[in-house]
Amino acid sequence: MLENLTNCPVCEHDYFSPFLVCKDYTVSEKEFQIVACQNCDFKFTNPRPSAEEIGKYYHSDNYISHSNTKKGILAQIYQKVRKISLQAKLKHIQKESQLEKGSILDYGCGTGNFLKICQENNWEVTGIEPEEIARKQAEDLLKINIKENIFETELKTKSFDVITLWHVLEHIHLLDETIEKLRELLKPNGILLIAVPNCASADAKKWKEYWAAYDVPRHLYHFTPQTLPLLLKKHSIKIDKYMAMPYDSYYISLLSRKYKTGKLNFLNGFFDGLQSNQWAKKNSLNFSSVLYVCSCNIANFPKV
Ligand SMILES: [Zn+2]
Repeated sequence: MLENLTNCPVCEHDYFSPFLVCKDYTVSEKEFQIVACQNCDFKFTNPRPSAEEIGKYYHSDNYISHSNTKKGILAQIYQKVRKISLQAKLKHIQKESQLEKGSILDYGCGTGNFLKICQENNWEVTGIEPEEIARKQAEDLLKINIKENIFETELKTKSFDVITLWHVLEHIHLLDETIEKLRELLKPNGILLIAVPNCASADAKKWKEYWAAYDVPRHLYHFTPQTLPLLLKKHSIKIDKYMAMPYDSYYISLLSRKYKTGKLNFLNGFFDGLQSNQWAKKNSLNFSSVLYVCSCNIANFPKV
């Protein structure tokens, strides 16, 4: 069953215009519509699978690639790039928090690879992961208990120096409730790092409905540097800095070209990714994926 949102998740406005129809290339082959709010221009997948139904759109042998013969190569490249980008992520959190080590919550920690690097560098790590197989892998890797649901945990309020969401916010059904909960868990001087695709990027405009980071229906929301601040402002969270996620561009470009042409071409995919990053360098808000470094607006913090 698909659920139909009647109000914009950001501004509550009730009139939307069709923006794009995209196909789910990785699992269902079905088409989904993305709409744009007429008031704030926020883009979101509508109608969308409900929280109960979305699970089946994550379950496929083809999640990384359609072709079994190519799946291995693409998965290997993905793993290599991921390793380099994990190191870059650790550097980001250390630099932005100005802490060599501290307490970190990775919301949507997947198989725990990022938290592993943090753990190796003496960070006190906590993970939340709803997907069972990934969660078990993370528990094996980190030797800690990983929580399934943030609303059923006994985490202490104001206890984290850093909270990260690496390509996770766009997947969350209970958007406002989750952001509110995360804000409660963050220390007043802590930082929130949110990485999401940017559908206002030159890349998204180039590939249109083939842009792999639309990833419908798993991506429920399609943020831009203009709309994410509107959502966060509701929760007294401000964006202090916009940063590039250049490694992501290569993978997204490679997949986008594959969706458009039906062929996997590593060389073209590499040059597409390079071009994407060069375009974006001219405008820091134009990257295919953006990392937002956020903090709480202490003036608006509820008094205790
Ligand atoms: Zn709106």
